[in-house]
Amino acid sequence: MIDFRSDTVTRPSAGMLEAMMSAKVGDDVFGEDTTVNRLESMAADMFGMEAGLFCASGTMTNQIAIKVHTQPGDEVICDFLSHIYQYEGGGIAVNSGCSVRLLNGDRGRITAEQVKFAINNAEDVHKPISKLVSLENTANRGGGSCYDFEEIRSIRKVCDENRLAFHLDGARLFNALVAKNETTKQYGEVFDTISICLSKGLGIPVGSVLLGPKDFIKKARRVRKVLGGGMRQAGFLAAAGIYALENNIQRLEQDHLHAKQIAEVLQHKDFIGEILPVETNILIFEVKGKLTAQQFVEKMKEHDVHMFTLSPTHVRIVTHLDISPEMTERTIQIIDQL
Ligand SMILES: *Cc1c(COP(=O)(O)O)cnc(C)c1O
Repeated sequence: MIDFRSDTVTRPSAGMLEAMMSAKVGDDVFGEDTTVNRLESMAADMFGMEAGLFCASGTMTNQIAIKVHTQPGDEVICDFLSHIYQYEGGGIAVNSGCSVRLLNGDRGRITAEQVKFAINNAEDVHKPISKLVSLENTANRGGGSCYDFEEIRSIRKVCDENRLAFHLDGARLFNALVAKNETTKQYGEVFDTISICLSKGLGIPVGSVLLGPKDFIKKARRVRKVLGGGMRQAGFLAAAGIYALENNIQRLEQDHLHAKQIAEVLQHKDFIGEILPVETNILIFEVKGKLTAQQFVEKMKEHDVHMFTLSPTHVRIVTHLDISPEMTERTIQIIDQL
């Protein structure tokens, strides 16, 4: 089976399993799991941030961050395609009682200018209070698009001028870092809080880390408990996280190469329309003419190659560490023969 449905489908490698099996664990709700503590401080150090919090998912790290940054009645500014708006079950409203100001960015990326115009006048009692700007890098629905770091700096400036908090949904931040040759420290300097997923491109079974200032993470720990996210011997998972940070970052360039190689064969097929620029490990393309998107997916499935439609016209392919060069080659041959 060749599975391009998501980079969440990966299984732990032998090395990762070994790291998990030999982890020293304790009760993390008591703060006694040394492996969780090590992962949290390791991730924080990488980004030059004060503290980290290991959570069960990226949805949880994002939702906790939003809740700690805001009060009910505040407003969160983000792109229309953002995961925090599209795929977190209305959590901004449910968990934080906040409204959302949605911006139409360029493939999931918003600009400082757009943010500036979206900020409400704090003196106007009619308006929700603008409180938080949240970016996504890479942008999932933007086809794994990466921000220009200068734009991020400009947005930070707008946040500073308007006393807005600045959060990054960095579910696939490491893909952006590898693709753009950027550093974790750059990001740690510019954002107040960052969520990183270890269960996407980095290949661990479960887990994300929320990074931020010490007092922020202290509050976040309380919210995590309220949401039922206090885990006990979570060190078995955290050990996989440490292994992933030590071994699985630079290899993301392989995934990016595979996505580009598949895009190349698609370009030459007459039933393929628009292909979003391939910047990282996500490939979004239009199917037209003799095939619908669904029919394309079905045909690939007959060869045991799996992917999802994003809409009646578009298909998404995601490459990851369980996609080998051979699997990529085979996929290219199958597409070529369609
Ligand atoms: C996957 C993802 C998340 C978190 O998802 P979980 O499945 O809850 O871990 C957050 N943001 C983006 C952009 C994602 O792709």
